[in-house]
Amino acid sequence: MKRVHIAPTLLDAQLAADALSSLGIVTHILNANAAGALGEVPFMQAQPEVWVDDDRQAARAREILAGLRNAPLRDEKICPQCGEANPGNFMSCWQCGGALPD
Ligand SMILES: [Zn+2]
Repeated sequence: MKRVHIAPTLLDAQLAADALSSLGIVTHILNANAAGALGEVPFMQAQPEVWVDDDRQAARAREILAGLRNAPLRDEKICPQCGEANPGNFMSCWQCGGALPD
């Protein structure tokens, strides 16, 4: 297990975990219940953390998350080969490996 992301909110952690698991990376969210049901975060309370199961996937997971943060959805590129949406800064499709348009 390796930590790849410290999220400001549980929603952020969930989005990151969803993005990684959709790419076949097994994740766990730690401190998921720390924020409370209504989203009130008491001072100094632990933030949600995203961990990957397989240490060997940690580097790739961080790369993917960095890509997500740097590329808002409106900048996404649609793969011409398979139609999959990719973060705007990706050079090739994560799904099929095809080249993405600039
Ligand atoms: Zn593709």
